[in-house]
Amino acid sequence: MASRNAPVGPSPFAVEAPPLPREKFVDPHVTAKGEARATVPLVSLDTLWLNTGTLCNLACATCYIESSPTNDALVYLTLADATPFLDEAHGFGPREIGFTGGEPFMNPEILPMLDAALSRGFEVLVLTNAMRPMRRHEEALLEMHQAYGDRLTLRVSLDHHTKPVHEAERGLRSWDPAMEGLSWLSQNGFSIAVAGRLLPHEDEQTARDGYAQLFADRGIAIDARDPARLVLFPEMDATRDIAEITTECWDILGKSPAEVMCANSRMVVHRKGESAPRVAACTLLPYEAGFDMGATLAEASGEIALNHPHCARFCVLGGASCSA
Ligand code: SF4
Ligand code: SF4
Repeated sequence: MASRNAPVGPSPFAVEAPPLPREKFVDPHVTAKGEARATVPLVSLDTLWLNTGTLCNLACATCYIESSPTNDALVYLTLADATPFLDEAHGFGPREIGFTGGEPFMNPEILPMLDAALSRGFEVLVLTNAMRPMRRHEEALLEMHQAYGDRLTLRVSLDHHTKPVHEAERGLRSWDPAMEGLSWLSQNGFSIAVAGRLLPHEDEQTARDGYAQLFADRGIAIDARDPARLVLFPEMDATRDIAEITTECWDILGKSPAEVMCANSRMVVHRKGESAPRVAACTLLPYEAGFDMGATLAEASGEIALNHPHCARFCVLGGASCSA
């Protein structure tokens, strides 16, 4: 059993598209049609993500990293693991260290790792479901807020502005604790953001209006019109068809490779069975061998071939950014 409260039905956010043809996203250099595949250089490392481990108190229907109370495919990162990357990061000048999981507050060394990043002068962004694992650390979080103010931001996942949709994705009894956690953060003056999603056929304005009403009703100090404070993510499903991204696409779409997440971020992961943490291209592809960039940030600063459906659906065509 993955979780007492794991959702039972299909995700309300399921992608509506035919299955992905097998010949797509195979060769890192060329697409199924033989066109040159797009690549993205590391323009500047603005955000270094530390994946704290995949264990989570929830088991959401479409968790992209397949987290659950039992999945430790990415093991807990330790302070000793994180320190060399924080030290090396200084040379790359990132603005921000991001912590993601799983649920970061389940990691036994999350507090010393947050402190290590904050005391080095970085801004810190923690992605959390704001439930019990976070609430256990209220006292320490208040002390950190006192010491570092708005350099510490917590971004709470609230998949939808309505309880039934949120719970269809996240499981029964997941809404009230998340709302209470978000309210606690807001009442105590933390720098906060919310990560939400759009239902198929729900337009962005409708969603922002829905969240604005929710925040007003609950007294949560977030401007739902601010895309950095209410981040709405496009959907991902590696099994559904999507166009491959060629070098021609940038001009056609009027986009630059520099706008894509992996142009300015990397993620440290410790995969179960590996002797040490490694650097992955981005937060979305922690397991794929083709997106393992090396053992250090220096090794991981090469170009990335957009050879995965997430590159197309989420990053280039969906236009998402994972940073606050
Ligand atoms: S709370 Fe986040 S990490 Fe945990 S299962 Fe849900 S989406 Fe995955
Ligand atoms: S999924 Fe997005 S961020 Fe990750 S490698 Fe592909 S384009 Fe880059």
